[in-house]
Amino acid sequence: MNIVNMHRVTRRAFVTEFGRGVFAIAILGTGITACTTSSGGSSTSSQDATPTSGTDPTSTTSEETTTSEAGSEAASGISVTRVNLGNVSAYVLVRGAEAVIVDTGNPGNEGDIEAGLSEVGLGWNNVGSVILTHRHPDHIGSLGPVMDNASQAFGYAGEADIPSIGSPRPLTPVGDGDTVFGLSIVETPGHTPGSISVVDPLAGVVIVGDAMNGAGSGVAGSDGGVGGANPQFTSDMAQAAESIKKLAALSFDSMYFGHGDPLEGNASQMVAELAATL
Ligand SMILES: [Zn+2]
Repeated sequence: MNIVNMHRVTRRAFVTEFGRGVFAIAILGTGITACTTSSGGSSTSSQDATPTSGTDPTSTTSEETTTSEAGSEAASGISVTRVNLGNVSAYVLVRGAEAVIVDTGNPGNEGDIEAGLSEVGLGWNNVGSVILTHRHPDHIGSLGPVMDNASQAFGYAGEADIPSIGSPRPLTPVGDGDTVFGLSIVETPGHTPGSISVVDPLAGVVIVGDAMNGAGSGVAGSDGGVGGANPQFTSDMAQAAESIKKLAALSFDSMYFGHGDPLEGNASQMVAELAATL
């Protein structure tokens, strides 16, 4: 039992410190299989199996369940689809047959978002959550039709921005410590007072809205770089800098922006380098 428990602890530590997604977890899973088999343990099968538990990833009930889920989630993965709307992006995050929409673009962009869902074989009825990174009109522009079409979906945003966001249904305020569909919400104020980022620590993915900017945004250059908040549209640059330092303390591989091209691979190091200049 001690050996099995130790494996769990080791695995959990790995996931926590190096939770970078499918490949890393697959390697670890293999290691656990070998170890556990040689020691006659029996805790491996559920970890290596494709997810069959039906566990709701939004509810975590115990440390062991969390760890087990972590493997399942990493094995099944969460996919990020960028819906490039020209001057801004929305995102469709999918795990299994459920989708989360992050931001809704400008008015009239609901058709493009629907196309993003179709691209991954889903439709409006698969959308359980709509998360708004902040209140600006190029991020909430199609919220009305998106919520009307995704009639099952709950809407979420940072508390300070909610009064400025018109929505067909009430939005739930979220901030540090909250999770939506297993995604962690991190408050990243400054660009607007209620700006939030969406983090999948297991997949190593962060969606920052306009807390930072990607290459080609006019803020970060065009060479695959990363830039801070756009001073032209940011209400509090000092606070925005603190938010970037907060993000820099996280470990992740990929960062997705409201404006500009994604940073894929080694993203947290680049954010840390930027944060060091602020
Ligand atoms: Zn903005």
